Amino acid sequence: RDCCPKARELYVEAPFSIAMTTYKIIILGGGNASGYAARTFVENGLKAGELAIVTEEPYCAYERPALSKGYLLGAARLPGFHTCVGVGGERQAPEWYTEKGITYLTSSRVAKADLANKALTLEDGEALSYEQLIIATGARPVKLTEFGVPGADLGGIHYLRDVRDADDLVAAMAAAKEAGGKAAVVGGGYIGMEVAAGLAANGLAVTIVFPEDRLLSRLLTPQLAAVYERLYDAKGVKMIKGAKVTGFDGADGKVASLKYTDASGTPQQLDSSLVVVGVGARPNVELFLGQLEMAAGGIKVDGQMATSVPGVYAIGDVAAFPLTSVATGQVAHVRQEHVTHCRTSAAQAAKAILGLSPPSYDYLPYFYSRVFALSWVFYGEAPSDATTLHFGDTDEAKCFGCLWLGAGGKLVGAFLEGGSADDAAVLKAAVAARLALPAEGLEVGSGSAVVAHL
Ligand code: NDP
Repeated sequence: RDCCPKARELYVEAPFSIAMTTYKIIILGGGNASGYAARTFVENGLKAGELAIVTEEPYCAYERPALSKGYLLGAARLPGFHTCVGVGGERQAPEWYTEKGITYLTSSRVAKADLANKALTLEDGEALSYEQLIIATGARPVKLTEFGVPGADLGGIHYLRDVRDADDLVAAMAAAKEAGGKAAVVGGGYIGMEVAAGLAANGLAVTIVFPEDRLLSRLLTPQLAAVYERLYDAKGVKMIKGAKVTGFDGADGKVASLKYTDASGTPQQLDSSLVVVGVGARPNVELFLGQLEMAAGGIKVDGQMATSVPGVYAIGDVAAFPLTSVATGQVAHVRQEHVTHCRTSAAQAAKAILGLSPPSYDYLPYFYSRVFALSWVFYGEAPSDATTLHFGDTDEAKCFGCLWLGAGGKLVGAFLEGGSADDAAVLKAAVAARLALPAEGLEVGSGSAVVAHL
């Protein structure tokens, strides 16, 4: 080609084909959802060689919620928490996929997805094609560098999404302890609350800096938030509310302090050699822009998790699916960034692909968290215009919660801290049924009495 003009001409003009490996089904993305989809395929008679999973991560699918909880305490490590142990299922370590004849391409980033031609191109040039594709690309942390926050690219500023992030954070916690033990957490959401608890449990002096007036303000009422804030306070975790992070200072490329304006707009500074940022997540949709219909920042799917292109499905954090609001009864496409939705939407797409025609996806929003010794669950919605009924022992922080009542006294949301699994199941069923509650009988002293009433 390089030395002979004729050969060059032939090289350019000759029809050529690139070797392409074809699978019946490919799952693009190896997060939580992919492990559960694989499980459903296997349970329904998948044959060896039919399925491939392609992921940028170096590991087979694992239960991501562990990263902001047990992992920081040294309690969870791979291969211990591969899917599907989160629901008491079989642990799908790499050997499981080999035994089932599933190709698992780890450390493989997809550079191009050509949905019209059913083809994927990996970053190293390898080409794959499929008959049916499940997109499970998930979401990535929103970075402060995206907003041009000065110093946000300094070393020592961490985000938490995958095992590599968690390993970096565990190493950084050990180093921070040596260096005086001061850590700052930016964001008062799920990551902020859980990671702050993990850092404090590891003996670091932690300060959470966040813009709202209370922790997890999108869900927790002021009364509920006050209980958790008292707990953080008792554990020595400081909270700076109403704060806006304006930048970071450091030396030798390493962060040394965080700058913010406080609630009164006064510039302040906080020494910290370790910073963890949890300011939300962004769905990974870039490969599909212009090829698929989008909604709510994600990929629009129907009740079978099917996208606007035949043979292409989307599941987990990236999928925007039709959800009937418990509060309004209206249907809208929403994304749910929660592991339970990852699991159930994965099973739904797998069944649809297998021709099992599952009933349209019916999902009740569910969230949970564990911080220190506390553990809560929430079902439904927490609209700001609902009537809230708090119950239980918030002083002792043992068993307490809140019910959200919408129009006609109908139960649209329920929060329960410290109850039993049976109690939680009762609340879930009551929200799912939009149970109308009588006006009296709810001024009770304990969570279990409310549940008994339901
Ligand atoms: P969240 O959306 O839960 O919380 C982000 C928090 O950061 C909000 O309180 C937000 O405030 C605040 N925030 C936004 N911008 C800034 C800023 N510039 N400076 C300071 N604070 C800011 O996201 P997370 O990052 O905590 O979690 C990421 C993902 O991981 C989510 O999908 C979450 O559901 C998931 N996750 C779930 C867990 C669970 O279910 N237990 C545990 C850990 C993670 P505002 O609301 O005002 O924007």
